[in-house]
Amino acid sequence: MALKIPNKKTPIAEQEPQKRIHNFKEVVFGYTLEEAITEANRCLQCPTHPCIAGCPVSIDIPGFILALRKQNLSESIKILKNYNNLPAVCGRVCPQESQCEGVCTVGLMKDHEPVAIGKLERFVADWAASHEEIERPPERVEESEKGKVAVVGSGPSGLTVAADLAKRGYQVKIFEALHAPGGVLMYGIPEFRLPKVIVEREINAIKELGVELEKDAVIGKTITIEELRSEYDAIFIGTGAGTPRFMNVPGTNLNGVYSASEFLTRINLMHSYEFPKYDTPIRIGKRVIVVGAGNVAMDASRSALRLGAEKSMIVYRRSEKEMPARIEEYHHAVQEGIEFHWLTSPVEYIEDKNGNVTAVRCIKMRLGEPDASGRRRPIPIENSEFTIEADMVIEAIGQTSNKVLLNAFPELKLNKRGYIEADPETGKTSVEGVYAGGDIVTGAATVILAMGAGKRAAQAIDEYISSKKKV
Ligand code: FAD
Ligand code: SF4
Ligand code: SF4
Repeated sequence: MALKIPNKKTPIAEQEPQKRIHNFKEVVFGYTLEEAITEANRCLQCPTHPCIAGCPVSIDIPGFILALRKQNLSESIKILKNYNNLPAVCGRVCPQESQCEGVCTVGLMKDHEPVAIGKLERFVADWAASHEEIERPPERVEESEKGKVAVVGSGPSGLTVAADLAKRGYQVKIFEALHAPGGVLMYGIPEFRLPKVIVEREINAIKELGVELEKDAVIGKTITIEELRSEYDAIFIGTGAGTPRFMNVPGTNLNGVYSASEFLTRINLMHSYEFPKYDTPIRIGKRVIVVGAGNVAMDASRSALRLGAEKSMIVYRRSEKEMPARIEEYHHAVQEGIEFHWLTSPVEYIEDKNGNVTAVRCIKMRLGEPDASGRRRPIPIENSEFTIEADMVIEAIGQTSNKVLLNAFPELKLNKRGYIEADPETGKTSVEGVYAGGDIVTGAATVILAMGAGKRAAQAIDEYISSKKKV
């Protein structure tokens, strides 16, 4: 018998593109209860539930969807929170198309879109937040003797380790270098994609578990790693990959050439999008070129548009097919009028007479055989150079590890790429009692992969401290 379920996801309301390019308010409004239930009804509750294996933190997806379908939302959020301490964040930013939704049975049926798992997760998390009497944190195990754990970095990996260990009764303190916790969720991903009140809300719920948080604490500078080692039973390092990479083409030092990290940090963390309320303006060009086509590039180009650029362009050396950005962000960028130059790479930033960038000389590329990343290697086409006028360039070609802590901790073994060498199953590093996870181990990846690493490390740290205390 043919299954009768709508083949498309239940549509979701969004801000009109022409309106939203002038503000930083969230683009996607979220489902109403009625829409969420309609979408939940598309789930087949398959006994093999491949979606669970597609989620790096193994959320009981059919379980939370079934509870939602029965309108038992307090049960639904309880199920989600058993697995995920940041459901409102993940529902918004996970690359669902390559994770849970990528393997959903409905999506594998001819002409069908998968169940909108991310949007349902977001709905349940947002609903719980507006019904605070329901979203009570799980009971903290009162067992202060269990041990003390220091977490370095408050991004998704650090927050997950901290929450999971606090739930198991550990005394946990997070040390964060910046003045606001959240890592990339706070300083990288813009407000129109992930409102900061939502990040703050989920961090507050973690603090309510008893997790302490010290801001402006740069481990390796203001507090030494030896100080942490003498006070804590175990340490987790989740310092991310926040150092920008550069193309290193001639003209990189011209005025108007930025790294996306600097550009987005000024906008998000320093609130330059709220100038003059915040006295931290940022200069925006009329014609902006962003180099790269990942989430960071989409965020930079869309932010530039919202801050007044007349034209915001993306230049990418591969084709649309190899673009690493979340598909939803790409669609939104297209709707907003971002101009894409595929198979194009900058070779020089050209100077006006006053040290400012005025144009970008580019070369056309073609795709060769796949490289180590599995994507086809871009190869320059001889004599194909051309120039695009631009008075601002933002490079978003990737990040690498932050060296502040690594330089202060030479015993810690690094891999050839300069990231911490850690066991993928436990996060165990070369130093006893020191664990690591997230981007500082894998290189720049995703929120949910960092959280998955945090979960596994929490389990391993619990086993390590428990076995040490038994001796
Ligand atoms: P981070 O989030 O980088 O957090 C590390 C924290 O450690 C930071 O707060 C840093 O200040 C702190 N720290 C560093 N050194 C020290 C020190 N010495 N002492 C104390 N604290 C320190 N992923 C997605 O899944 N979906 C997306 O849509 C998405 N969009 C992105 C957009 C942008 C602009 C960027 C930059 C990344 C995006 N990512 C996205 C990637 C994702 O955000 C990261 O993979 C994830 O945040 C990594 O988490 P983490 O815990 O490893 O580190
Ligand atoms: Fe899917 Fe991410 Fe939610 Fe897991 S956390 S179910 S991968 S949206
Ligand atoms: Fe529902 Fe899709 Fe998971 Fe099946 S795979 S249980 S249809 S979400």
